[in-house]
Amino acid sequence: FGFKGCQKIRGPQIRNLLAAKDFILFDCDGVIWHGEKAITGAVKVVKALIQRGKNVVFVTNNSTRPRENYVLKFCRLGFTDVMLEQIFSSSYCSALYLRDVIKICGQVFVIGCDGLRRELQEAGIPCVEEADDPNATIYDCALAPDVKAVLVGHDDKLTFLKLAKASCYLRDPDCVFLATDTDPWHPLSGGRILPGSGSLTAALEVASGRKATVIGKPSRFMFECISSQFSGVDPSQCLMIGDRLETDMLFGSNCGLDTMLTLTGVSQFEEAQEYRNSEQTADHSFVPDYVVDTIADFIAAFEE
Ligand code: PLP
Ligand code: CA
Repeated sequence: FGFKGCQKIRGPQIRNLLAAKDFILFDCDGVIWHGEKAITGAVKVVKALIQRGKNVVFVTNNSTRPRENYVLKFCRLGFTDVMLEQIFSSSYCSALYLRDVIKICGQVFVIGCDGLRRELQEAGIPCVEEADDPNATIYDCALAPDVKAVLVGHDDKLTFLKLAKASCYLRDPDCVFLATDTDPWHPLSGGRILPGSGSLTAALEVASGRKATVIGKPSRFMFECISSQFSGVDPSQCLMIGDRLETDMLFGSNCGLDTMLTLTGVSQFEEAQEYRNSEQTADHSFVPDYVVDTIADFIAAFEE
């Protein structure tokens, strides 16, 4: 039955939904901020939810910062009561995966920003040092002998040499292949976009003939991280709020959570309806249960 979901809700319906949930999972970009600017009303909404005793967590695929930088960013944008323990980024969850799931012994070759490497280092995971001469080729560099994982994240200093080295390490079937996330692209202001980690991961999947294990949304792993750090997380008591159908809504569906699409980000209401009306059952995992124009719509729900 293709017509479940995509329910646009307002004041009293939002209030009833929030009353039924004790865990609110927020995607970040497109839901609570756009880059360096908080979405209007988001500060008030997050504060009100926390004051009402809700467990609020943030689930972001952005791997470019360690968690303490997110705390600073939240503060800078006015979210002064957000704590480190509430932040689940694909960089932090990648470190947890390497340390606690595969219990890596050896080094990680990272394609990513310094923030990702810093998060791994804080978890005690050694990364291969990157100090290449920009004119070097794959012939000029020694490959580290003990690389046990390649981790691909967002890298704004990507070079062909990094891709070449990662491809070499992935020849070893015992070298684990991880992606922080597989987001295809990210919106910037003025209609520009940035290619996301998904595009870099795709390049290495082709080069290696292998498939990366994905840490971030829509993979369930981030929810497992949340469940292991908070007691009594019951999927039926959780609401996942996001702006991208193919990451956030699918993540919610994969984890058995109710989902809400907010229209302040990437995906449009019409795209959600198309998935809802699709005859392909797999498409229904992208359909949000609920839709709001913006999370600022929660404010009216609190005030009634
Ligand atoms: N990764 C990068 C590099 C980004 O710039 C963004 C959004 O700006 C994201 C991931 C997506 O973040 P989120 O999951 O918070 O929407
Ligand atoms: Ca988002």
